[in-house]
Formats: sequence, C-alpha cells, structure tokens
Amino acid sequence: MPLIDIRDLSVSIPTPDGDVHAVRSVSLEIERGEIHGVIGESGCGKTMTGMAVLGLVPKGARITAERFHFDGEDLREKAQSLRGRHIGLISQDPAAALNPVLSIARQMDDVIRAHRDLPRKARRAEAASLLAATGLPDPERVLKSYPHQLSGGMQQRVVIAQALATGADFLIADEPTTALDVSVGAQVLALLRRLVAERGLTVLMITHDMDVIAEACDRATVLYAGRSVETGPVEAVLNRPGHPYTRALLAALPDAAPHGARLAAIEGSIPPPRSAIAGCAFAPRCPQAMPVCAAEPPPERVRGTHRWLCHLPEDAA
Ligand code: SF4
Repeated sequence: MPLIDIRDLSVSIPTPDGDVHAVRSVSLEIERGEIHGVIGESGCGKTMTGMAVLGLVPKGARITAERFHFDGEDLREKAQSLRGRHIGLISQDPAAALNPVLSIARQMDDVIRAHRDLPRKARRAEAASLLAATGLPDPERVLKSYPHQLSGGMQQRVVIAQALATGADFLIADEPTTALDVSVGAQVLALLRRLVAERGLTVLMITHDMDVIAEACDRATVLYAGRSVETGPVEAVLNRPGHPYTRALLAALPDAAPHGARLAAIEGSIPPPRSAIAGCAFAPRCPQAMPVCAAEPPPERVRGTHRWLCHLPEDAA
C-alpha cells in the first residue's frame, strides 16, 4: 500500500464570482522511502495539493476524492491530527518559518516539548543532535543564535531539524530551494536525499524546477490546470515523456538554463480556474490536438509504471 494514495482529488473554493477549481483531478501514489516530485507551472495546483494533505486548505474549501489516504487513514478526517505527528512541512521561505524574536534553542525546544516527553537537558541534547544531523557544523552556536544571525541555508537546515523533531516521517517540501542560491540549494537537496536514506523518510517535493526533479527525485508527477497528466519514474518522465505538455515543458528549457530558473512559458495560457473543462485541458495549446481532444476526457496510457493522459496512441509518445 502506498504511503500517500490519492485518487481524483479536487479542491474548490467558493467565491462570489463562482467556484475556483484550485485542484480538479489529481491522482498521486507515493511509496515509502521515495522523493516524489510534483511539477507544473504557476496555478497548476501543486501547492494546493500539498496544503490539502496538510489539512491547510482555505476556510470553506470543498475537498472531494475517490481516495485521499495517508497510510490507510482518510486525510479528510485525519489531516489535522497527522500534521506534525506524521506529516511535516518544509516551506519555501525559512526566514518566514522561524520566529525572529526567539533563539533557535527556544524554537527547537518548543517543537520537541510538544511532541516528546523528555526532561529539559535531554531536549537540549536532542536539539543539538538534530541540528548536527542536518549538517550544521556547530550546533551549540546555532542554538544560541537568532534567525537573523544565520544564513538562508542554515535557516533551512534548522527548519528541516524542526520537522525531524516532530517525529514526522513524511515531509512536504514546498519549493525548498527557491529562496537559496544555487550551490546552497544543491546542498539542501543532497541533505534531503541523505535523510531519506538514513531515516527512512518519504518526501513530496513541490517544485517548478526540472533540475530539482532530475537531481533529487525518484518519481515525478506533472500537473496541468489542476490535473495530474503524467506520472512515473523520473528517468522515464524526463527522457521518454508521454504527455505533449511534459514534452513542451522540456523543450522550452534552454540547454543552459540556470539551475532554479522558472519553467519557460509555453505559448498560450492555462485555462482560467473558474472555467469548466470538458476534454483535455491542454487542447488549446497542444500542437498535436485533434477534434476529440476538446470534447472528451483523454484516456490513460500505460507503459509499465509510467502513465499519462492523452488521446494520442501510446506509441505516438
Ligand atoms: Fe494534446 Fe489531445 Fe493529448 Fe490533450 S489529449 S495532450 S490535446 S493530443
């Protein structure tokens, strides 16, 4: 059984001008011990999918799904209680995730005390040990510091140590390298890979950056207009993409695109989030669109564990 098992998830937010379909139909299976990348342009639904798993959707949002499970438990009922205990968040901006007026020692202690029944000295030792596990060279000095005295890379390691302190075994990393420079971002990705190997963690990596998918992820799911349109092992998705949207994303990458570069624009734009979509959402932008594409939902094409949605026959990919 996959740790995360999501089938046909939708998240709609009612507004006076009609429902915003933030997520229309996302299916996602994440096995234990893998880093699973979710990639797509802005507005594709990747962050809202992560927020739904964390139970942090906007007030009034409607969630529907055929399955929406974490380790067999229904996230519609259990997300709040699983957050922190089993599911942790590494956010894009570590400076915003840390309290600027409290020392790192105090912030680490608050997290450990909330999740573990340990005496004060043991909590301090645990905090230092977790900071050391994230590769921070002088944990005692870090504990005495305030966030503004640390670099962005060090702050992100503290945020990761806090996530570990909760005992969470599944982490949602939402663009964890976007606020960091290239080499520091690469170190954070290497750290996540090491923690997955050493501690048996599982990571959902939300990103707009194909380099992050290639460097850090085992499998990837491509989202378009709130739908998962392709999923599979990273090697297959990047080297033998099935969906024309994935191919367009890869073709739009300049060969020398700097690491961290946003996905280049593809001609046309994604459908407005309030619009209804009858067939394939990519049809208005797809160079291979056929009359059936705008009228009927595309079928699933399967090549082993690599799957995508498209009216084109499997051998056309
Ligand atoms: Fe293009 Fe049609 Fe495939 Fe959609 S279903 S990606 S429009 S070929």
